[in-house]
Amino acid sequence: MLLPSSRRSSWMLVLPAALLLAVGGSAAAQSKGAAAIRAEDMTFHVQFLGAPEFRGRNTPSVELEVAAKYLALAAQRIGLKPLMPGGSYFQELPLDIARMSEATSHLRVTTSSSTVSYYAPAAFNPRGRWVAPGSASGGLVLLGLGANAPTLDWDDFAGLDVKGKVVIVLDAQLPASHALRQPEGRAIVARRATLAREKGAVAVLTVITREREQGLAAKGLSFDNIERGRPINTEIGLGSTPQPAVFQIDVRHDAAAGLLGVTRAELDRMFDELTQGRRVPSREIAGRSVDVAVNFDTRKGATRNVVAVLEGSDPILKREYVLIGSHHDGVGYREDLVFPGADDNISGAVAMLSIGQALMVERPKRSVIFVWHTGEEKGLYGAYYFAQNSPVPVEQISAVLNLDMLSRNDPNSIYLIGSNKISSELDHAFKEQNQKTTKLTLDYKYEDPAHPDRFFFRSDHYPYMRYGIPAVWVFCGTTEDYHQPADTAERVDYVKMARVTRLVYAVLMEVGNKPALLKLDVDPRITTRGRHNFPVDWQPPAAPRR
Ligand SMILES: [Zn+2]
Repeated sequence: MLLPSSRRSSWMLVLPAALLLAVGGSAAAQSKGAAAIRAEDMTFHVQFLGAPEFRGRNTPSVELEVAAKYLALAAQRIGLKPLMPGGSYFQELPLDIARMSEATSHLRVTTSSSTVSYYAPAAFNPRGRWVAPGSASGGLVLLGLGANAPTLDWDDFAGLDVKGKVVIVLDAQLPASHALRQPEGRAIVARRATLAREKGAVAVLTVITREREQGLAAKGLSFDNIERGRPINTEIGLGSTPQPAVFQIDVRHDAAAGLLGVTRAELDRMFDELTQGRRVPSREIAGRSVDVAVNFDTRKGATRNVVAVLEGSDPILKREYVLIGSHHDGVGYREDLVFPGADDNISGAVAMLSIGQALMVERPKRSVIFVWHTGEEKGLYGAYYFAQNSPVPVEQISAVLNLDMLSRNDPNSIYLIGSNKISSELDHAFKEQNQKTTKLTLDYKYEDPAHPDRFFFRSDHYPYMRYGIPAVWVFCGTTEDYHQPADTAERVDYVKMARVTRLVYAVLMEVGNKPALLKLDVDPRITTRGRHNFPVDWQPPAAPRR
């Protein structure tokens, strides 16, 4: 079906080339370009791609493929050209795709008198974006909440040896005011499985939250046996090391009670205790041993970046590029909960379409590459892949502007991450253009790689920075809806989104029109663009472990 078009945008598409040339380069034309970025044009795309019918655009999924097709068609309709060989808008990224083998995976508990088996995905399910097959067995330890926080007067590991053991933790919600619900405490709870493994546990079984259990039970649902995709590519750092399948496993409440040898009422009381902020004492469950095995069926598959280009206006400089990127994948769904990802990141994906329309009014001397990345939520797959397999030499990419989450929080403020780490000129372009045009507050709160939220490493600008290309993540910050069902199109602030998009367009024009590529004048380790920079990773020194 055709996309709707405003009268304004169709008028722009038929502007004679001569007129475009006549106004090219003037400040008036540039503001006309910016005027083509309009909140009301963004709503249609956001309402469609951000709809729950896309089931959160998991990588890999049919829904993600439909979103990619839509973006390619929209790019073509605007007038952007294909950049991949054979006139294609798609860069294919080969994947190994794995799905748990339900027939050969099991969870069993053995006592002196019997063995009871539980089956996947009805009773248990491995956790994680990419897991290796495996099996484990051992005695059983109940670890309560599983938090190791002696300074907060809470240590579920105290006095217990979990070496060689299968550990059970309860995914219960403490009272909101509890110290373990605050940032430092939350980080400790989030590390519980890793810590158990470091202390020698062979598997960590997580008893799911009561809310999730009740939701599944009420609807007669199982866990989802999802397909997991892993790039066949050694350079993709994040996500390429599979965690052992048996390292972390989600368990339903009936199975958990059976494993522990308690009734459902007793298990419920344990959750009650934690809900009220009291510990469930850790203990070894004598006389019971558990063995668990998880296996996968695998196949070859692929996922796709959408890649387009707009040729620059200068006959020489058009052989250099500014890259504008976003990701169109999402975190998918879990059982009957869909995470639509309207802000994260349909907002960025759609902002790129508006920038494409603005560029039809006024384009820079350099060419502009558009990349809608796949697999960002799984480990920046698409951005790593594009940087490694760029259809143009990466040495000719002046800068990367990454748009990931633009439409929430303070309407007058936006976070910049990475803008001042490789080239002072990139950050300067933001400051200057912002001063001239949008007058937002540019907030650098999250730019420090040592920030506890580690945003610096968490979006598609980062792989390009590993290639020594000046890059920035333009980011509105998270909300309580981040990666939740409530990240819907209804909550998108289109006025903010349009304003931020105009700023990015202005910066794109400045960087694209400069006499030279952005200078690499900040980090003495980075003097030229290219793959040889890959070892530079900005990791802060590891925090001393308590
Ligand atoms: Zn995102």
